Amino acid sequence: MAINDFAADLDRTPASLHVAFGSSGGDGQLLIDGAWRDAASGARFDVVDPGTGDAVACLAEAGAADVDAAVAAARRAFEEERWLRLSAAQRGVVLWRAAELIEADIENLARLESLDVGMPISQARLMIGEAVNMFRYFAGWADKIHGRTADIGPAEMRFQGHTYKEPVGVAGLIVSWNAPMVGMAMKVPAALAAGCACVLKPSENASLTALALGRLLLRAGVPDGVVNVVTGGGTAGAALVAHDDVDKISFTGSTAVGRKIVQAAAGNLKKLSLELGGKSPVIVLSDADLDQVIPGVAKGIFWNSGQICTSGTRLFVHDSVYDRVVEGVAAEGRALKLGYGTDSAADLGPLISQQHLDRVHGYVTEGLAEGASLVSGGRRYGDQGFFYEPTVVADVTPAMRIVREEIFGPVIGAMSFTDLDEAITAANDTEYGLAGSVWTRDVAVAQRTARRLRTGRVGINVHRAGGAAMPIGGFKQSGWGRECGPDGVEEYLETKSVITLLDR
Ligand code: NAD
Repeated sequence: MAINDFAADLDRTPASLHVAFGSSGGDGQLLIDGAWRDAASGARFDVVDPGTGDAVACLAEAGAADVDAAVAAARRAFEEERWLRLSAAQRGVVLWRAAELIEADIENLARLESLDVGMPISQARLMIGEAVNMFRYFAGWADKIHGRTADIGPAEMRFQGHTYKEPVGVAGLIVSWNAPMVGMAMKVPAALAAGCACVLKPSENASLTALALGRLLLRAGVPDGVVNVVTGGGTAGAALVAHDDVDKISFTGSTAVGRKIVQAAAGNLKKLSLELGGKSPVIVLSDADLDQVIPGVAKGIFWNSGQICTSGTRLFVHDSVYDRVVEGVAAEGRALKLGYGTDSAADLGPLISQQHLDRVHGYVTEGLAEGASLVSGGRRYGDQGFFYEPTVVADVTPAMRIVREEIFGPVIGAMSFTDLDEAITAANDTEYGLAGSVWTRDVAVAQRTARRLRTGRVGINVHRAGGAAMPIGGFKQSGWGRECGPDGVEEYLETKSVITLLDR
C-alpha cells in the first residue's frame, strides 16, 4: 500500500485531534495556570506529518508574553505551595496516577506521537510505555527525598548539623522532537517528585503529546499552575531561558543550542542541566559473537531512523572481522522496511523534516566525495514524506565531517583497527561523550574498555539499554548533569544545611 493510503487510514480529523488534545477551550492552545488559552499574539504554527509532508494541525505559538504568563503561573503555584502542600506520599500517588492515565491512553498517545514524528505506531507504543515506567519510577522518589545529619564542632562547643533537600523552584523544561514522550517523562515527573513547579516547552516539531500530557496531569490531580505547557519554537525557548523568575532550565537538544542556553542563562545564573548531542562509538573486537554484534549494532544505529542521541554512529571493527560486520550491518539495514506510521509492517519511519533529510543526505554525499565508500542506502526513499534509507558508509577517516559531527539520521561510518588501544583513542577523539558500546566475549577487556571510554554511558554487548533507573548524560560537550536514576531527581533539588548549637 502506498504511504498516502496509510496516512488516510489514520484518523486525523479535527474532531479526533480535539479528543486527543482534550482541551476544553479549543484545540492546540497553551496550558497556563490550569486553563487553555491562545497565544497573546494569536499566532499559530502548523504541525507537519513527516510521513506525507502535509500539515495536519495548527497550534498556538507562544511568544515572550505567553512565557511570562506561564512562568508567573508556575511561580504563584510554587509560592502558594499548591503542590508542596500535599504530603510527599500524596505527591507520589498523583504521579503514579498520571502513569496509569498515560498507560490507559496508550493507543491515543501512540497515534499522536506517530503522526507528529513519523515513528511506526508499534514503536510509539514502546516509547509511551517507557514514559509510563519513568512516571512510576519518579513517583517512588517523591517520599524518599531527605537530607543527612552530622555531629559537628570541636569538643568544647558541640553543634548538630542536618541538611534538607528542597525543590529548586520554577523549572523550565525544554525538549527535543526525537522521542517526545520519553524526553518529557525524563523531566516532568523528576521535577514534580522534587517539588518544583514547571513550564514545559516541547519542540515545535513534536508538541501533540505534550498537550495531551498536560491534560492528563490535570486529571491526575496536579494542581493548576504546577505544570504549564507552552508550544512554540526557539523564541519561546529563549524567553524561558532568559527569564529571571526561572530558577532552573533542563534542556534536551543540540549542542549548538545548548551553548546559547549557557549564555542566555547567565542573567540570573539559573541552574542548568543539558542533555546534548552525541557521536557514539561502537567497538567490535575480534572475539565478539558476530551473531549478536550484527543485529545489535544495526539496532543501535537504525532504530527511530537514527534520531536518537545515543545512536552508535562510529563503528570501529577489528580488521579480522571488519568485512563481515560491515556487510552484516548493511544487510540488516537493507532488510528494514520503511513505511508510514500506521503500516504495521514498517520498521522505520521518516526523518522529521525536509530540512533534516537534506542535512542527513548532505553528510553522506560529502563523505563519499571525500573518499568513503557506500555499502548500503545513501538516498531518499520514495517521493512522499522525508524517508531516508538505512545507510552504511565504509572506510571513513577520523577527519571527515561524517565522523566528527552529529548527523542524527540512519547513517553509520565504519573504520577498521588492529589494536584496541588505537580504537579507544580514536573513539575518544571527539567533542562528544554521550554513549558508546564494546562488543567482546572477554569480560575483563570489556570492563577495562568501558572505563576508558569518555562517555556517560557504555553498553557491553549491547548498544541501547538503560531505562528509568540508570542515569543518562554526557561527558564533554554532550552536556551537563544527568537524567534518570537518583541523579535525575537531584538535578531539581537544592541542599540546605541547618546548624544548631547544642552546648558550649
Ligand atoms: P534543538 O537544539 O534544535 O531544539 C531543542 C529544543 O530547543 C526545541 O524545543 C527548540 O524549540 C528549543 N530551542 C531552539 N532554540 C532555542 C533557544 N535559543 N533557546 C531555548 N530553546 C531553544 O534540537 P532538536 O533538533 O529538537 O533535537 C535534536 C538534538 O537533540 C540532537 O542534537 C540530539 O542529540 C539531542 N538530544 C539529546 C538527548 C540527550 O539525552 N543527550 C536526547 C534527545 C535528543
